[in-house]
Amino acid sequence: EKFVYDFAEGNKDLKDLLGGKGANLAEMTNLGLPVPAGFTITTSACQRYLAEGSHVEGLSAEIDDHLAALETSMGRKLGDPADPLLVSVRSGAKFSMPGMMETVLNVGLNDESVQGLSRQAGGNDRFAWDSYRRLIQMFGKTVCDVPGHEFEEALHDAKVRKGVKDDVQLDADDLKELVAAYKKIFAKHTGHEFPQSPREQMDLAIAAVFRSWNADRAVLYRRQERIPADLGTAVNVVAMVFGNLGADSGTGVAFTRDPATGESGIYGDYLQNAQGEDVVAGIRNTVPLQDLEKIDKKSYDELLAIMAQLEGHYHDLCDIEFTIERGKLWMLQTRVGKRTAAAAFTIAAQLVDEGMISLDEALTRVSGAQLAQLMFPRFDLSSHPSPITRGVGASPGAAAGEVVFSSAHAVAAAAEGKSVILVRRETNPDDLPGMIAAQGILTSRGGKTSHAAVVARGMGKTCVCGADEMEVGRDQFTVNGQVVREGDTVSIDGTTGRVYLGEVPVRPSEVVQYFEGDLDPALANEPLVSAVHLLMTHADSAARLAVRTNADTGADAARARRFGARGIGLCRTEHMFLGDRRPLVERLILARTDTERNEALAALQPLQRADFLQIFREMNGLPVTVRLIDPPLHEFLPSLEDLAVQVAVAKERGEEAEHDERMLAAVRRMHESNPMLGLRGVRLGLVIPGLFAMQVRAIAEAAVELAAEGGHPRPEIMVPLVGAVQELETVRAEAEKIIAEVVGTSGISGASSGVEILIGTMIEVPRAALTAGQIAEAAEFFSFGTNDLTQMGWGFSRDDVEGAFFWRYLELGIFGISPFESIDRDGVGRLVRIATDEGRATRPGLKLGVCGEHGGDPESVHFFHEVGLDYVSCSPFRVPIARLEAGRAAV
Ligand code: ADP
Ligand code: MG
Ligand code: MG
Repeated sequence: EKFVYDFAEGNKDLKDLLGGKGANLAEMTNLGLPVPAGFTITTSACQRYLAEGSHVEGLSAEIDDHLAALETSMGRKLGDPADPLLVSVRSGAKFSMPGMMETVLNVGLNDESVQGLSRQAGGNDRFAWDSYRRLIQMFGKTVCDVPGHEFEEALHDAKVRKGVKDDVQLDADDLKELVAAYKKIFAKHTGHEFPQSPREQMDLAIAAVFRSWNADRAVLYRRQERIPADLGTAVNVVAMVFGNLGADSGTGVAFTRDPATGESGIYGDYLQNAQGEDVVAGIRNTVPLQDLEKIDKKSYDELLAIMAQLEGHYHDLCDIEFTIERGKLWMLQTRVGKRTAAAAFTIAAQLVDEGMISLDEALTRVSGAQLAQLMFPRFDLSSHPSPITRGVGASPGAAAGEVVFSSAHAVAAAAEGKSVILVRRETNPDDLPGMIAAQGILTSRGGKTSHAAVVARGMGKTCVCGADEMEVGRDQFTVNGQVVREGDTVSIDGTTGRVYLGEVPVRPSEVVQYFEGDLDPALANEPLVSAVHLLMTHADSAARLAVRTNADTGADAARARRFGARGIGLCRTEHMFLGDRRPLVERLILARTDTERNEALAALQPLQRADFLQIFREMNGLPVTVRLIDPPLHEFLPSLEDLAVQVAVAKERGEEAEHDERMLAAVRRMHESNPMLGLRGVRLGLVIPGLFAMQVRAIAEAAVELAAEGGHPRPEIMVPLVGAVQELETVRAEAEKIIAEVVGTSGISGASSGVEILIGTMIEVPRAALTAGQIAEAAEFFSFGTNDLTQMGWGFSRDDVEGAFFWRYLELGIFGISPFESIDRDGVGRLVRIATDEGRATRPGLKLGVCGEHGGDPESVHFFHEVGLDYVSCSPFRVPIARLEAGRAAV
């Protein structure tokens, strides 16, 4: 196995092996762009290193060969005292994990080669010692776990002693002293001197990069982003170029489009006389990239030309890291850049307009999760709240919460159920847990490319950064004379960068207004709204899966229809039994005779009919699947404890409590140890005479009434919890009789009546899935109830397990995500496949759908598409998301 690739040997499609950074460095090298020479050690070497411990057979020899080739091409030897070659050792995994892993610059410097470096730079001692102190600092921190703040404090002390503010104001002698101080810190913590051997430095740095794959924060980030834990990182060894050689040098980052809005233009930050990390760390204030035109026009023009070339090549937004060494531009990194949800839509639509990508391709560039973000509410500014300050809108959204100043406090407050805004001067990877826990992030330093901004955008979390009027302390911040303490509430707008004191109310986003059809006309030509329109239209035309909604009321049905639902996949009838109808249900349950029961049913029937009529009207012309009553009846009764107390108290007082006593007896009688597996669904229908009949009659009558109005009702009666075909046959026989009777006496007759009622079943008991071939004999449709199918398939009680032990299962990797959130393809998914295939074998025209939470989950939608279902059904608000994913699944 080959472990090391020269940049010239790779390309952008080798991300698995070379990591994103390595693959793109190779791609740029082969495009003829100015990339310093170097080589990449593969992710598979890292996997081997982590699995086998330090020694990977053959790796060292391959590194020798590639290092020798690099030295030949550069005409210098690593760390040569007279004329040293220096390298950077850079991590780079398949998926970008900003700031999560390690990079060490200036490897190869020691007490001797620092002199050689100075001579190379024309006697620039300051530069050489600055590079050396950086090496000891980065190497100490990342390779040997020396606490980074000790170096920072030593640097701070040096500046104070000199009476200066910026590190560039330290001269060669100051830096020499600093190197001596750094070495002491290094020796104190490691128990040995800073290693002088260049090759040893390099090997230790490579091993440290390998190990950084398993650093706590990297592990946490991967879990959050659902990046597999076993990929490993590649290591890039790159010849150093220097941005810290003086004012004619510098380093910067750039985007080919605005990663926050998607607008094309020139976005980036540049810092003169600086090395790599300085830009993102917010150590000194960067200048906007545009200013580079005045500083170094030649490099600026070349950079712009390269950016255009990269966009044309990758057909996407690229982000770039570059360094200028004495007027010579070097490309140090590029990748298809992270972006906000809004930018993803806008960019995809723009690239279609520009003829760079097809509509199908555009669909692959956006996701349901991003659309969900665009549907988040915005601040309602109609009360004209005045901002206390303003920063850079780095990651959009409207977040309000109590201010906290540390990651730990954010985690603790969130655990108490509070919304918090994490306020920091700037964030670093150690703040990750707090960033995850917080509602939003606010920093006083750094721009769109700072750690806070990049990580927040990746997580879809609201972030305002670089609000530099803020003075952030330990437990309060001050801005324009105002003091905001831990626990005070602020609202931050990640789009405009505005920060408000107190809680600002929110309103629906433009995208929701667009779906609702009540978009402010002034916004109709907004790039984002047009982009959403373009992509949704294409998704609908590409999709094979239809999207229906779960709705129990006319209002929900109407909203879902506006959001693009093509029918109702699940109308639960039990919600119709609550509220002021509860006494009627109690009468039904307490009935002692047939007459009492029939009276109770007769009272419920017109109410149900009216509910159905309203829903059928809203969904006129579209299918409406009505599920007959499903939950155990005692859910409609008061709690056993409350009743027992009530009865006891009444007795004590010698009061009359006949009704309560009857109720108590009924509750006792109906008590179940495992209600989820008890008397519910079809079992209720078979045990309580007249219950299902009443519901079927209400459905049929509502349908007839709508047809008589000239409408086109399409009810589908769904029987829940069926496990055997005989259950369904019994219910079906009775239902068919009632339907025939209702339609027969209605005066409207035959096929022209416009009333056609299908009868089918949920597939939610594993036995139903396994005998689907038989069940299809009696069912015109199946709807997979994947919530119950998951409960019963795994034997998990949904209400109990999530809090009890799922965290442990997730930690152990038994599953990567809760099977209630995203369908378990291998197990529960297999049941769906079996039922689909065997059901269709019996009845080729069998309609197949899914109701249940999974219908709105992007991953699951793709699975249901693959299996070949006809539709998914989800809550009204998730309908657009499911539509988009159904389209994406089909391209
Ligand atoms: P990250 O993955 O955190 O962005 P990088 O490996 O890209 O880390 O390194 C961070 C920065 O260090 C780069 O953006 C670049 O400015 C600087 N850097 C890395 N390698 C070199 C090099 N060979 N010459 C000059 N600067 C470098
Ligand atoms: Mg980088
Ligand atoms: Mg169910």
